[in-house]
Amino acid sequence: MPTIGVLALQGDVREHARMLGEVGAAAVAVRRPAELDAVDGLVIPGGESTTMWKLAETFDMLQPLRMRIKEGMPAYGSCAGMIMLADRIEDGIAGQQTIGGIDMVVRRNAFGRQVDSFESDLDFAGERVRAVFIRAPWVESVGADVEVLGRCEPGDRIVAVRQGPLLATSFHPELTGDVSVHRYFVDMVREL
Ligand code: GLN
Repeated sequence: MPTIGVLALQGDVREHARMLGEVGAAAVAVRRPAELDAVDGLVIPGGESTTMWKLAETFDMLQPLRMRIKEGMPAYGSCAGMIMLADRIEDGIAGQQTIGGIDMVVRRNAFGRQVDSFESDLDFAGERVRAVFIRAPWVESVGADVEVLGRCEPGDRIVAVRQGPLLATSFHPELTGDVSVHRYFVDMVREL
């Protein structure tokens, strides 16, 4: 059974842990570098990417996170977690840093200007999934090595991507009863 960490600096850690448990992974909270070393993969939850970045710096986690991702650790970022996995962001606050790893530009609070929060059904990697968007980012553009796994109205925007061992969604699957995205990620961890 793979051990999957949930980055527990901020955000809805418990909901992700519950979904991971439902699809057969052992979920543990990760706050420190030693805890990060012990996991096979990592979920970076939603929350607020500016706060998560600052907490990651305060807890001396930013460099260890960058290092493990560089070494190929599978990671899944949801919403603010997607922002944290983006190589480049738009509409960040001054100096805002990410962990990076996915060759994409992500626009913060992109759907927020039109609709703050909404739910939608969308195609994710060939499956119909239930998605909750909360002041969600969208993906403005992706590099050649990034696979687009899902799009959403309004605007047919890119909301789910994968690059090798890294997965990101604009939406929160953990707030629905739908475990498809977590199952997809745990299968990724098993295969890698
Ligand atoms: N708007 C948030 C940010 O910029 C993300 C919102 C979320 O994770 N639900 O980090």
